[in-house]
Amino acid sequence: MKEKEFPENMVPIGNGEFQFECHPGVECFTLCCRNVDLILYPYDIIRLKNSVSMDSEEFLRRHTTLCQGDNPFFPTVKLKLKDEGKECPFLETSGCTVYHDRPSACRTYPLERAVDRTNLHGIPEEYYFLTDHVYCLGHKEEKRFNVKSWTRNQKVFEFNVLNDYWAEIDTLFATNPWKGEGAAGEKQQLSFLVCYNINGFRRFAEQHKLLKQFSIDKAVRRRMDTDDSELLKFGFEWLKLVLAGKSSLVRK
Ligand code: SF4
Ligand code: SF4
Repeated sequence: MKEKEFPENMVPIGNGEFQFECHPGVECFTLCCRNVDLILYPYDIIRLKNSVSMDSEEFLRRHTTLCQGDNPFFPTVKLKLKDEGKECPFLETSGCTVYHDRPSACRTYPLERAVDRTNLHGIPEEYYFLTDHVYCLGHKEEKRFNVKSWTRNQKVFEFNVLNDYWAEIDTLFATNPWKGEGAAGEKQQLSFLVCYNINGFRRFAEQHKLLKQFSIDKAVRRRMDTDDSELLKFGFEWLKLVLAGKSSLVRK
């Protein structure tokens, strides 16, 4: 069988152990929260905006910026740093003020996660890579982890589930499903609303009685009233239906 190839200098850590700990006692404490280039995924925004009790629309306006990322047909959302000191807006001298809801990248660090969807059986495979930034002294601490214990310790699971959903939608966006309409046409704006502005999508869904149009399990439907991530999953399926004509949603 052909061995999987990875970019130069990137070797998956597999089941190997690594040495790491991050705590207020390290000399570099909060250094990595300055000049940070932080991409925010849809679930990151839900967690952050709820953590600071803000509507997603207001959150996007105050704390994010759009840029061209890997996908040429859909904008990437990044965290906007404070003008002064170029640091994360959620950083205080005591540390991260949104620690329990910090984004996927902050949570997974010093590991990075990649998911390969190209295998023959269509089953996504995940790989983790160990980063090694010279400024990060956490690598000199004594605690040892492997991928399993680290991701459990950092409560990464729910983020990975939602990020994998998102990766599927992002792959659909990369096929330019709004051909003809061009960028910022109605379908792309709707897609942005679903993915990044969940409170806006909730208002849209209520206004258009969207949820009533589909057969949805009662317990799931109840959760959707209060749980933004449940509504996001519905939104992703709805976008698949609108943009590709196929999804798990069943019309009434
Ligand atoms: S969210 Fe928290 S951990 Fe992440 S960069 Fe901001 S302050 Fe640092
Ligand atoms: S640079 Fe490394 S050890 Fe220092 S605060 Fe950031 S993650 Fe923790």
